[in-house]
Amino acid sequence: MPLTVLAAGFSALLGSAIGSFLNVVVYRVPLGRSVVSPPSTCPRCGCGIRGADNLPVLSWFLLRGRCRDCGEPISGRYPLVEGATAVLFIVVSIRFFPSAEEGLPLVGGLVLLATLLYLMACSVALALIDLDTRTLPNRIVLPMYPTVALLLGVTALSTGDWGSLLRAVAGSLVLGGAYLALALTVPRGMGLGDVKLAGVLGLVLAYLGWGPLAVGAFAAFLLGGSFGIGLLLLGRASRSSGIPFGPWMLLGAWVGAFSGTTIWDAYLRLIGLA
Ligand SMILES: [Zn+2]
Repeated sequence: MPLTVLAAGFSALLGSAIGSFLNVVVYRVPLGRSVVSPPSTCPRCGCGIRGADNLPVLSWFLLRGRCRDCGEPISGRYPLVEGATAVLFIVVSIRFFPSAEEGLPLVGGLVLLATLLYLMACSVALALIDLDTRTLPNRIVLPMYPTVALLLGVTALSTGDWGSLLRAVAGSLVLGGAYLALALTVPRGMGLGDVKLAGVLGLVLAYLGWGPLAVGAFAAFLLGGSFGIGLLLLGRASRSSGIPFGPWMLLGAWVGAFSGTTIWDAYLRLIGLA
């Protein structure tokens, strides 16, 4: 059995468990509460959630979406987030599992994969929190800098690819700087949360290449912009109603990570530069 299939199966289990934790993060971080204690309880009757009732996705269906003790409905968003995180982890693992063709040493490739899975977990949490509260909490974004820097540093150490690490730092400054300039000139459009997120997205995208960075940055504005214009045309939003931009930055970044190199090369050929 190819290693990729094994990695995908492992990612499904890991993703659903992480998704379960992300539900706690999304609910508690905006409230400024600890994500590790106390353990989850039913908001109505206060009974603790039993270990057997805390299995990702499965438990919600076994309990038919209700608290075992008082019958209070449990939001369908919980199993949805767990299932979606599992699927996203599988997709990332299949796409970024170190392959012999790319010539990545296994260890370096696996650390890079871990970096991207960590980024995906943060992406899911940040997108949901931004949609819920219009904020990108420092408690999630700031620790991403040392974590991503450490993981990419280990990747570069193992692959000897210091050029990518240098490009990552440059990309972080470029994307973070561009968002900072936007936030200062159009203060109602971008927040400082977006600027801080841009810096760390630039770090990862530029490590993957200039193509992923460029495509990731443009895709955010293209997707977010089309969505905003669509809402305006449908009369569902007015010019003044703010649409959170974080989810589009994250979605754009993932478009860049997955197909930035391909899209960028095609674009360069189109304009005759390659
Ligand atoms: Zn209950």
